Amino acid sequence: MKQHILEMEQYAIDNNIPIIEKPSIAFIMKYIKNNNVLNVLEIGSAIGYSSILMASSTKDVQVTTIERDEVRYMECLKNVKKCGMEKKINVVFQDALELNLIDELRYDLIFIDAAKGQYIKFFEKYKNYLNPGGVIITDNIKFHGYVGESSKLDKGNLKSLVEKIENYVEFLKNNPEFDTVFKDIGDGLSISTWKK
Ligand code: SAH
Ligand code: MG
Repeated sequence: MKQHILEMEQYAIDNNIPIIEKPSIAFIMKYIKNNNVLNVLEIGSAIGYSSILMASSTKDVQVTTIERDEVRYMECLKNVKKCGMEKKINVVFQDALELNLIDELRYDLIFIDAAKGQYIKFFEKYKNYLNPGGVIITDNIKFHGYVGESSKLDKGNLKSLVEKIENYVEFLKNNPEFDTVFKDIGDGLSISTWKK
């Protein structure tokens, strides 16, 4: 397992896959343990790095992860098998904004780590699948330190992406249904707990 994780880290470097930073996944794994999280929904699997580590947090936790890119999906399946995690991780090949989950499904933790410009859409869609007291954790809230600094950027794709993450931060701060804390670890995490 340790060896497979190291290989995934190298594959991510070689192929420019933005996998989660180590302090951030360590925080999420600890959260899963301490809060007895039993099921996780992840949006944005990439090659399975974060889903495999989340699934290895405790004996009982189960992970469903969604990926829309076929090459990454295939790589994710391969890695889940290599790690012997087929029983703990369900990999779904679909665009998360088009997917219709079974109405009754509920998760203790939803991890948003897909297209950074669509965070509000993911949040609004998937908050309906949380258990009471459940949490939505979002990665890359700092986006390499650009978030909060968009006014200094020239017009372009980067600026508009950073502005969207800034809007997401405001959306979370003003969301009456959720209490959000922002953690300055890795590329920045938000932890939004449903007040119900
Ligand atoms: N969570 C992974 C990294 C994910 S990178 C890890 O830390 O190991 C973001 C991934 O989200 C990319 O592979 C991208 O293809 C996927 N993605 C982006 N938008 C998506 C969408 N709408 N539905 C499903 N996957 C999406
Ligand atoms: Mg990320």
